[in-house]
Amino acid sequence: MWDVAIVGAGPSGSVAAYLLAKKGYKTLILDKNSFPRYKPCGGGVTLKAGKLLNEIGLPIEPVDAFHKEVLVKGFGLEIEVRTSSGEYAIAVVRRNLFDKRLLDEAISEGAVFKRAKVLGVKREGDAIRLVGINEASRVVVGADGANSVVAVTSGLRSRWSREDIIFAIEGVSQPHEKLTFMVDAAPYGYGWIFPRGKDSNAGVGGMLEKSKEIKRSFDRLAARYKVVKAHSWIISIGGHDKSIAGRSVFLVGDAAGLADPLTGEGLYYAIRSSLEVSESLDHEEPELEYRKRMEPVMRELKEKRRAARIIMPRIKFFFKLFVAYPEIAERYMLTSIGRVEFRDFWRWSISKLPRALIKEKLGI
Ligand SMILES: Cc1cc2nc3c(=O)[nH]c(=O)nc-3n(C[C@H](O)[C@H](O)[C@H](O)COP(=O)(O)OP(=O)(O)OC[C@H]3O[C@@H](n4cnc5c(N)ncnc54)[C@H](O)[C@@H]3O)c2cc1C
Repeated sequence: MWDVAIVGAGPSGSVAAYLLAKKGYKTLILDKNSFPRYKPCGGGVTLKAGKLLNEIGLPIEPVDAFHKEVLVKGFGLEIEVRTSSGEYAIAVVRRNLFDKRLLDEAISEGAVFKRAKVLGVKREGDAIRLVGINEASRVVVGADGANSVVAVTSGLRSRWSREDIIFAIEGVSQPHEKLTFMVDAAPYGYGWIFPRGKDSNAGVGGMLEKSKEIKRSFDRLAARYKVVKAHSWIISIGGHDKSIAGRSVFLVGDAAGLADPLTGEGLYYAIRSSLEVSESLDHEEPELEYRKRMEPVMRELKEKRRAARIIMPRIKFFFKLFVAYPEIAERYMLTSIGRVEFRDFWRWSISKLPRALIKEKLGI
């Protein structure tokens, strides 16, 4: 029997496998695909995520481009933001290569990889049986993405409701100079161009409820920026108020619904949750420990969800505010790289609202 079986070898699964195998746990990691495999993703790794990978001992590799400046544009306005420290804001990777390398690192630490599709989990005494394959483990980590079968069959949560899902489409575009976000490219969402040297990743994303409009937005983006090889997938953002651990089953990354409701950033949360699981398993009450360690993350995601509900329907107004007060943009950068708590940023930004509203009314 395995000490830990990890279902899914995306970034969350491979980081968990790397850390747990390194600690000496007999670790099995399973994926329905062989690697390298394609995963629809912009491949944007924020400085916050990059720093966490460094701390873990897995510096981001291979990286196609490091971007210090981020151009945000829409509604005829634009603003360029950068980190005050001069470090990169976003590194761009190709997920097929990035994920394969993380899995290789896990294997070199002693984790055993098997290609297999897991249909669910079932408790058998002290063990958990992986349905669909002939394996059992003391602990299971569900790292099987937004449509996690581990989450649902373990009873930790039911399927996501539509409002917990971001729908995104991405593809390959020509080379671009600047990493760009387009806040008017999709309803309740945005468009992006992430240059990576010889080409760029470009796409749009927004709430699943608006999927028809998002598809139309992508067609417009594709026509304008010659985007080819389109892939679509979902990002789950509903995890902040759901159960992420119980009876030796732990959920991480997209399986746990841990992505930023404002930006769709999921890589940081995938890595962070796997780090916290690996630290929790040594503990006497690992489920309790994991929940405790994840509390600040859950709180942050909850606050971002609340902010997204206010900002997204009024994106034009908020973007004008962003441009009119460059210090808001600068401070937002500090939250995105982990230097300022989102809660403090949000409170501070809201304090600017009354003056901004008066200026807007007076047209000055
Ligand atoms: C279009 C798009 C663009 C995005 N852009 C960004 C970005 O620029 N930056 C960012 O930070 N985040 C981005 N995200 C989010 C990011 O891709 C995810 O948050 C991240 O991949 C989560 O990692 P994970 O390891 O939890 O899940 P995944 O990467 O989804 O990995 C899950 C793995 O589980 C395997 N699996 C699934 N079911 C089973 C099963 N039953 N049995 C065995 N294996 C199984 C899958 O094959 C897969 O390899 C984007 C998402 C989308 C859809």
